[in-house]
Amino acid sequence: MKKLGFGCMRLPLKNKKIGGSVDLERTKEMVDCYLGEGFTYFDTAYMYHDGRSERSVREALVKRYPRESFLLADKMPVGMLVTKGDTGRIFRHQLKRCGVEYFDYYLLHALNAKYLEKAERLGVFEYLQAKKAEGKIKKLGFSFHDSAEVLDRILTRHPDMEFVQLQINYLDWEDEKVQSRLCYEVARKHGKDIIVMEPVKGGKLADVPEKVKTLFNEVHPDWSEASWAVRFTAGLDGVICVLSGMSNMAQLKDNMSYMKDFEPLGERELNLLKTAAGIINNKDSIPCTCCRYCTAGCPVDIPIPEYFTAYNKKLAGDSNYKEYFESSTDKKGRAEQCIRCKKCEQACPQHINIAEKLAEIKDII
Ligand code: SF4
Ligand code: SF4
Repeated sequence: MKKLGFGCMRLPLKNKKIGGSVDLERTKEMVDCYLGEGFTYFDTAYMYHDGRSERSVREALVKRYPRESFLLADKMPVGMLVTKGDTGRIFRHQLKRCGVEYFDYYLLHALNAKYLEKAERLGVFEYLQAKKAEGKIKKLGFSFHDSAEVLDRILTRHPDMEFVQLQINYLDWEDEKVQSRLCYEVARKHGKDIIVMEPVKGGKLADVPEKVKTLFNEVHPDWSEASWAVRFTAGLDGVICVLSGMSNMAQLKDNMSYMKDFEPLGERELNLLKTAAGIINNKDSIPCTCCRYCTAGCPVDIPIPEYFTAYNKKLAGDSNYKEYFESSTDKKGRAEQCIRCKKCEQACPQHINIAEKLAEIKDII
C-alpha cells in the first residue's frame, strides 16, 4: 500500500469550535481525492470526534466505495473498559457504527504499562485473537504510548501482535519521555511492521519558528514544513504507513504530492532536521499534541489542549495567540475551575502534569 494514511481524528468541522460536527461534504471530497490518487488506508477510533469519526467513515467512505477498495483501521479503547463484556459490546458497536463486516487493521488503543495489565486481566488479547480467527480482523496490533522497556515487554509477552503504531517525529526522536527512536528500535528488533502516528506532532511541525522556516527554504523552497516531518518518518525502514490527521483539502493535496512516489530524505536533509529539532525544542513549551484524550473526563469541561496551544503560540512569538484562545475556548470551563482531580493526566499519552501546567499558565494567556 502507499504509505500515506488518512487519519480520521481531525476531520473538517462545520463549526470550528470544540465539539463541532464533522463537515461530511468536505470529508467526502477529501476521501474521493485520496482514493482517486491510489491511497487506501483510513484510521479511525472509538472516541475520535466523540464517536462521530466512525460514523463519518461509514457515510463518507464505506457506503460509497466497494469494501475491498480501501483498508480500514479501528481501535479498542482499553482505557474505557471496565468489565470483560465491554470488549465485545464495543467491538460490535464499532462494526455497526462503521457499517463494515470486518476491520483490515485493528489495534488495542494507546497501550502503556497500566493498560497492558488491564487488557490482560480483561482477556482483551484473547477476545481479539478470536475475532481474527473469525475473519472480523485481518491484522491485529496496538498503538503505544510508554517507554521502550514497556514496548519490549508487550512484544515479548504477545509475539502474535503483527504491527505497532508508534508516535514518531523528528522532534520526539531523541525525546527522553516519548523515546521515539528507542521504541522504533525495539519494534524493529521484534520484526514488527510500524505505523507512524503524530508525524507532525499535532500540527506543531507544520508551524515551525521563522528560523527553521528559513533553514528549510534555503534547501527546498518548494517543500511545506509539514512535508519535512512526514518525509522523515516515511523514510524509516519497516514503516508501512504514516498517518496524517488531515483537516482540509490543501493539507491532503500537499501530503499526496510527495507521498505518491515517495523518495526518502538524504543525509543533508536529515542533518538539517536535527538542527531544526534543537531550535524548536524550546524547553519551556508544553508537548501537547492536541489529541484530546484528556478532555472527555474533565468534570468542569476545561479546553486543555487549547490552553496549551495558546501558551505555546505565545512562546513562539505568535501575536495571534490571544485571538486563537478566545475564539476556541468560548463557553468552556476555565483553568481557574480546575479541581485537580487529575482524571485528564491518566489519559494523557504525553504524560503532561496538566493540572500543574494549567495553574502555571492560566494568568499568562
Ligand atoms: S485535573 Fe483539572 S483539568 Fe484535569 S480533569 Fe480534573 S478538573 Fe479537569
Ligand atoms: S494534554 Fe495530553 S491528552 Fe490532552 S490534548 Fe494534550 S497531549 Fe492530548
